Formats: sequence, structure tokens, C-alpha cells
Amino acid sequence: MSDCLFCRIAAGELPADVVYQDEHCVVFKDIHPRAQVHLLVIPREHIESLNELQPEHNALLAHMMQRLPELARQQGLETGFRTIINTGRGGGQEVFHLHIHLLGGGALSGF
Ligand code: AMP
Ligand code: ZN
Repeated sequence: MSDCLFCRIAAGELPADVVYQDEHCVVFKDIHPRAQVHLLVIPREHIESLNELQPEHNALLAHMMQRLPELARQQGLETGFRTIINTGRGGGQEVFHLHIHLLGGGALSGF
């Protein structure tokens, strides 16, 4: 059994509020939402962060990115959304399984 939190969520071993999944990725609600809508998009494959990306991950990354607009629409984010990928401790990453934060709704803080 993996000791990676997000691998275990992807495998269905730990509960999560999953809003979308397919053979390549799983999307669930962040447990501590920073906006009205706060989803996490993760690959099923364990990749620690952007630092570990390899050329063979290109199609997987594109697949995840291409899911974002429809996920946002399904969450009612008609006027737009924000995506964040924290990388490494210096980038604020806490869970070392690559994930895209999808945020929106209400007033997002300035950036
Ligand atoms: P990051 O700082 O980019 O690594 O973000 C990790 C995110 O995972 C944080 O926003 C946490 O709130 C979220 N998180 C941690 N544990 C869980 C969990 N069990 N289910 C859903 N989201 C989680
Ligand atoms: Zn993992």
C-alpha cells in the first residue's frame, strides 16, 4: 500500500469528494478550500512535482490541463478560474504528489 496521500485517494483507499475521474486523472475537492470552489486535479501516476516531469508525461499533463475549463464550468465558474501548482517546499508544496489547484468563485485575492 502506498504511503502517498493522493495515491491512496486515487486508488479509493482514502475518502475524498471526487467530482471527476478517468483513466489518467482524478479530481476532488480540497479539504481546506481557499475559495468558493477549490478542486485538486491529480494524475493517477505518482509524480512528486513538476521537478520530476519527464518527456513521457507530456500527454498526461496536456490531458489534465484540457480538463480544466469543463471542470470550472461544471462548478459554475462562468467568468474564469485560477490554477496554481506549488512545486517543492520553497514553492509551498505540502503534498508531494503533483496536483493542480483549480480555484474560483467570489473575489479571489490579488496576485
Ligand atoms: P500544496 O500545498 O500545493 O501541496 O497543496 C496541498 C493541498 O492538499 C492543500 O490545499 C490541502 O488542503 C489539500 N489536502 C490535504 N489533504 C487532503 C485530503 N485528504 N483531501 C483533500 N485535500 C487535501
Ligand atoms: Zn502519489
